[in-house]
Amino acid sequence: MKLSIVVPVYNEEGNLSLLHDRLSRAVAGQADDYEIIFINDGSRDRSPEILEELAQRDSHVKYLSLSRNFGHEIATTAGLDRANGDAVVLIDADLQDPPEVISQLLERWRLGAAVVYARRRHRAGESPFKRLTAFGFYRLLHYLSDVHIPPDTGDFRLMDRRVVEALRQCRENPRFVRGLVSWVGFRQEEVLYDRDERHAGQTKYNAMKLMRLAWEAICGFSLIPLQLAIWLGGLVTVLSVVMTAIIVIQKLFLNMPFQGYAMLACAMFFLSGVLLIMMGILAQYVGHIFRHTQNRPLYLIDREKGWDNPHG
Ligand code: UDP
Ligand code: MG
Repeated sequence: MKLSIVVPVYNEEGNLSLLHDRLSRAVAGQADDYEIIFINDGSRDRSPEILEELAQRDSHVKYLSLSRNFGHEIATTAGLDRANGDAVVLIDADLQDPPEVISQLLERWRLGAAVVYARRRHRAGESPFKRLTAFGFYRLLHYLSDVHIPPDTGDFRLMDRRVVEALRQCRENPRFVRGLVSWVGFRQEEVLYDRDERHAGQTKYNAMKLMRLAWEAICGFSLIPLQLAIWLGGLVTVLSVVMTAIIVIQKLFLNMPFQGYAMLACAMFFLSGVLLIMMGILAQYVGHIFRHTQNRPLYLIDREKGWDNPHG
């Protein structure tokens, strides 16, 4: 049985040696053979040199370097495209996810699960704000779409080869890998673990980037925002019919003069607001279609190392 471990790396120079040590120790004896695939996602620090050196020294290490920073989701995809193990583990490079948990993931896989999520028991070093928004996001996505992404799970997970092959068929861009894994189906189970704090360096996700990821997830997995136009349009139409009826009755039967310019202005602003919001949502979906029809490759590879070694 062969195990593949996929690690996206963006400016993680302070973590790589320790990560390599801990990963190697954690998987030794767990599989007949293993490979650790590092994807350098356009790092601007010493990460590429460290990774090349690791690939030189350890024949289990394979190294891919993308031509620029393509983002976490794409870097992960590049790794999954190359992983050829019977089981594939996705793990972040910052040591927030302890490699020692991999043995538990493998255990559940051996019992028949196709995907084993590592779900955090608690989140060390994360603000109440991040926890609250994450909670809200998972709820919203579940409500809006068919994919159920279990809350409190990051990318740390094990996937059977069948799942990885299914993911390879999904070439959409922008992409939300966690959503795709849920969409694929098969038997999915979870294992609880304690997430550590980042070992070195800083998170690459600020509030803005997280919001963009959240929107891309919703846009990629739900059509409900588009249907909002029908509901809002219906509501406004009913309101306007009621208002017209009231005005006609006032004029014809109660002989009241027309009045309410302020109301007219309010209604105009309200309607323009609704229309602009709906156009914005429409534009987002059109943007997705546009990106998709451009049909560019998801990523480009600049350098690679370690692919011709005996663990290929
Ligand atoms: N990462 C990447 N490309 C990016 C941003 C991040 O490959 O553009 C990698 C990063 O090196 C790490 C993982 O994705 O291994 C998760 O990133 P981070 O720890 O910053 O996210 P957080 O844990 O804060 O959500
Ligand atoms: Mg992290």
